[in-house]
Amino acid sequence: MAVEATTLIIFGGTGDLARRKLLPALFQLGCKGRLPDNLRIVGFARQQRSDDGYRDLMGESVREFGSLAPHADEWTDFAKNLFYLPGDLDVPGDYANLQSRLKELEEGQEPANRLFYLSVAPRFFEAAIANLGSSGLAGEPGLGRIEHGWRRAVIEKPFGRDLDSARTLNDAVGRVFDESQVYRIDHYLGKETVQNLLVFRFSNTIFEPLWNRNYVDNIQITAAEEVSVEDRAGYYDNSGVVRDMVQNHLLQLLTMVAMEPPNAMDANSLRNHKIEVLRAIRRWEPADATQNTVLGQYKGYLEERGVASGSSTPTFAALRLYVDNWRWQGVPFYLRTGKSMAEKVTEIVIQFKRPPHMMFSVADADDLSPNSLALCLQPDEGVHLRFGVKIPDQGMIMDSKDMSFHYDSAFKDQDIPEAYERLLQDALEGDASLFIRSDHIEQAWRIVEHLLENQSGVSNPQPEQYDPGSWGPESSDRLLAENGHRWLGVCGLDQEAHA
Ligand code: NAD
Repeated sequence: MAVEATTLIIFGGTGDLARRKLLPALFQLGCKGRLPDNLRIVGFARQQRSDDGYRDLMGESVREFGSLAPHADEWTDFAKNLFYLPGDLDVPGDYANLQSRLKELEEGQEPANRLFYLSVAPRFFEAAIANLGSSGLAGEPGLGRIEHGWRRAVIEKPFGRDLDSARTLNDAVGRVFDESQVYRIDHYLGKETVQNLLVFRFSNTIFEPLWNRNYVDNIQITAAEEVSVEDRAGYYDNSGVVRDMVQNHLLQLLTMVAMEPPNAMDANSLRNHKIEVLRAIRRWEPADATQNTVLGQYKGYLEERGVASGSSTPTFAALRLYVDNWRWQGVPFYLRTGKSMAEKVTEIVIQFKRPPHMMFSVADADDLSPNSLALCLQPDEGVHLRFGVKIPDQGMIMDSKDMSFHYDSAFKDQDIPEAYERLLQDALEGDASLFIRSDHIEQAWRIVEHLLENQSGVSNPQPEQYDPGSWGPESSDRLLAENGHRWLGVCGLDQEAHA
């Protein structure tokens, strides 16, 4: 029997994420004609609200946070498929109410597909999943997904706060859903430029022969934020930079740079290759963690409202990791991320080896940057290839210059969509390539476990202080200097601009 309709149920449908990201993204998808036919969206949250009240609230959100002001006709068309049900995720009876409301909405269009989006605080994840199971809303795991309408669950980040809690949550999810029904989000993967990493690597033959230990000297991944913890101090102080950025976003980027070429873009090929990289990352003994990491805290963090007195939560981390496999043996991967840093930038720099013998004079050997390829993910999305050139009219004196590609000039007038647009569309279409599998989550937690130990003050009570607006603590530079390296320029800028 053909499936007639799809219902997207947003738990936490009135929250910040729903208002700022999910509804604007869904509206955009609707305007582009990319939503499934007969899609209904049901917001579920604690506040009392009518369907019309919810439509008004979401209309305001789309106007405030969407990239385009909604056209009245387009909005009316979209809003007629918006519904709201007040309910408490901790109350089993409210899931029965949801079941009745869904049946009412889907009447005459059964069997209907259902996508449950958990856009609520992580403490609700386990109970909500269990209740979806016991109420019958989730259906039977893995069974009859096509014939009777599929059931899927999107789970927001953070997924666990360490290995134990991630395992417990994975077990809870596994009791209700088959892994193929579960879409764990790391919204970084929905960014166009992150996906372009795959296209760049696997559709250009000229780089692949160089993409290994024979030519690559080191790889640097930076995700720096200019902002401080702002009004998120309460959450951040319990989380810190390792849980907030390293375990998920930075390790994702590392896997995409280091993975072997998959033979297809399907979810399992991609995810199998990514987890191979995580498994090859050298395991730290606790002492190695101290030698290979720098944790920092910006000056003034302790005075932020919501931060515990004397907190040792790091707001900056720099790591040196090694991927122990044939391709990457001995190549350091440097990861760096933090708040209150000099610039907002996310980039990956592949630094190639220096020439084995330099026959040209350079004014200062340090001025000659080795070849590097910078993949800039934000803010100036693009690619920069740096090479040595002769300075005109100065004998055989050399300098380093960049050849650059910029998304905004190459694809003029073309919007770069929000990550959530792509992720929502994929979840509705059943493509899990850009979502995280349970084994990936657990392996990533395993990698950062010793860092988390440092965070809890076991072996490194206080992170190093750094000035807001800088590139982090001095030890971050020393970490690279130990291997004769230094952090390279940001998105193709000169090294000096980086100092
Ligand atoms: P929020 O606090 O703004 O919203 C929470 C929503 O849950 C509200 O709609 C609230 O009414 C509802 N809710 C709370 N308790 C409930 C209960 N007992 N029963 C039913 N509904 C209840 O949170 P948020 O910022 O929207 O974040 C939601 C999730 O998304 C979190 O897991 C967060 O980590 C993740 N996330 C948020 C952002 C963001 O930009 N806000 C970004 C990435 C990930």
